[in-house]
Amino acid sequence: MVSLMKLFEHEAKDIFRAFRMPTPPGGVAKTPQEAKRVAVEVGKPVVVKAQVLAGKRGKAGGVKFADTPEEAETHAKDILKLRINDLPVEAVLIEEKLEIEQEIYAGITIDRNRRKYVVIGSAAGGMSIEELAEENPEKIIKMYVDPLGDFLPFEARKMALAMGFKGKQIQQLASFFLKLWEIVKAYDVELTEINPLILTKDGRFLAADARLNVDDSALYRHKELIEGFRRESAEQNERERLASENDMAYVELDGNIACICNGAGLTMATLDAVTLYGGNASTFLDLGGGATAERVEKGIEIAMMYPKVKAILVNIMGGITRCDEVAKGIIAARRDGDITVPLVIRMVGTNEEEGQEILQKEGIPFLKTMEEAASKVVELVKEVA
Ligand code: GDP
Ligand code: MN
Repeated sequence: MVSLMKLFEHEAKDIFRAFRMPTPPGGVAKTPQEAKRVAVEVGKPVVVKAQVLAGKRGKAGGVKFADTPEEAETHAKDILKLRINDLPVEAVLIEEKLEIEQEIYAGITIDRNRRKYVVIGSAAGGMSIEELAEENPEKIIKMYVDPLGDFLPFEARKMALAMGFKGKQIQQLASFFLKLWEIVKAYDVELTEINPLILTKDGRFLAADARLNVDDSALYRHKELIEGFRRESAEQNERERLASENDMAYVELDGNIACICNGAGLTMATLDAVTLYGGNASTFLDLGGGATAERVEKGIEIAMMYPKVKAILVNIMGGITRCDEVAKGIIAARRDGDITVPLVIRMVGTNEEEGQEILQKEGIPFLKTMEEAASKVVELVKEVA
């Protein structure tokens, strides 16, 4: 199950700019009056662009040029009334209109068959890459990148050279590919695309359009995307909201075993172990590093709010997180009556013995390995189910 969070063009460009990629100056507007104000600020002819999560806005009447702020206002008014691909246009992006010398395509996506990233470039940008692939496949340059490897500056220059660029333009264009690669790595990007990347008549390269789709299942690693853009917030349930308020990575799944761990990698491994022993996880809950007793208690409380939960597996690798703190949190949750299902604990690392002692005093069993803990929790769930 792979679903995507698509960013609006202006959101994607915010990220592009954060990576110091050149984009045309401008801003977002939700009303024609705002559009006019942005156009005044730009102080030059502008392009007015519908902000919808759909491609080919140009052809749908969602991209218009204006020589004056008044004209930008009129265009914004028209575009804000449009529905493109059955989606309402809730905002427009106003940007300096570029004098086009050439429209270029630059993008990176995942080739699932090859299990690699593929960096794609073409000197014949502007139209969709699918159309280009059909009509002029020879004009598309591709380079595959191992997900565990890297995409290096000389390879980016090779791309630009293969696309037909010369001299100092090679370096200029290469830097766009390298920045896209940085963004792909930073945000678990499924697809990012600049189409067109415009070479202006005065020799500048700028990202005139921006597409950025992030793998949904990686969003817990990029809370700023959710928080900054608030896309998901309306759809968040109480548990998700509480988790995000408490800075915990929390994802609900279809099974019945809540996995509460510290660190995304360990949480993922715990989910895998549960699956391996024939169980199904209900919850991915990463407490983060240095979890205090209060945090552990809160995490258990949140996990227990999900009606699907039939058992809890706490798996902690003590590092900055101390096992005695975790044990105290578990005991507090138990005292509060939060834990109404079987509980399995595996704790190793910093202050392991102190933690175990605390649990022992309360008669709470614990296990030493993740495998034992995973198989135990699966067994317990079968008994209660
Ligand atoms: P899309 O149709 O949804 O992909 O929207 P784009 O942002 O790619 O815009 C469509 C087309 O409008 C581009 O291929 C360009 O030809 C043109 N365009 C977009 N931005 C600019 C700009 O800043 N200046 C000029 N002159 N043309 C632009
Ligand atoms: Mn485009």
